[in-house]
Amino acid sequence: MPLRPLFDLHTHTVASGHAYGTLQENLRAAREQGLLALGTSDHSPGMPGGTDRTFFENYRILPREVFGVRLLRGMEANITDYDGSIDGGTVTEEMDYVIASLHSHCIRPGSEEENTRAVIGAMKHPCVKIIGHPDDGRYPLDLDLVAEAARDFGVALEINNSSLRPSCRRLNGASLVRRLARTLAEKGALAVMGSDAHIWCDVGRFAEAEAVLEETGFPEAQLLNLRMEGLDFLLRKRDK
Ligand SMILES: [Zn+2]
Ligand SMILES: [Zn+2]
Repeated sequence: MPLRPLFDLHTHTVASGHAYGTLQENLRAAREQGLLALGTSDHSPGMPGGTDRTFFENYRILPREVFGVRLLRGMEANITDYDGSIDGGTVTEEMDYVIASLHSHCIRPGSEEENTRAVIGAMKHPCVKIIGHPDDGRYPLDLDLVAEAARDFGVALEINNSSLRPSCRRLNGASLVRRLARTLAEKGALAVMGSDAHIWCDVGRFAEAEAVLEETGFPEAQLLNLRMEGLDFLLRKRDK
């Protein structure tokens, strides 16, 4: 049976500097895709060409619902060192959720031990709810350790649809997303699909991710997008 994802929390607008859609276009696309909620998650200020702190501070003017779609206030923060520091600053506390990711503009690939320590360290920030695209062969990870830590911290690991597309610059996405799905299933950790849309027509697009989840027999109970309770879980306040 085809999956029916209810929300997409990983989307970018022109404010990211290397994306091509407006928030209005993304919201319209979300409604057309049948999503009930859209999270807008532009890159934190450390990403070259992106926005600055005031952009996120002014999220307070965003309506909570547009075109019948719930609108959530997010940020994709950069992991900046192997201890797992992130660069969002104190404004991260005002976000509904933060995605923490390794990006080549902001941290050099380390050893498997260093990259793993960076990702697990980022999970310790209470605002971080999702680790973005932990499937990039340029940043080898010990997926067993990452999945165990995610399960213990209550952080979701992303099944990133863009990593599975030929246009993606991450390395070995196709095989690594499959490995990630199998490891999450085995460890009882939570997954969330994200489109990582950098243009409106990719918002809510999960076809490639869904195919991998089906192929690997991923347990639906561990996939947060399928129930609004999954969204509530991601939006909860984590203890410091
Ligand atoms: Zn990213
Ligand atoms: Zn992204």
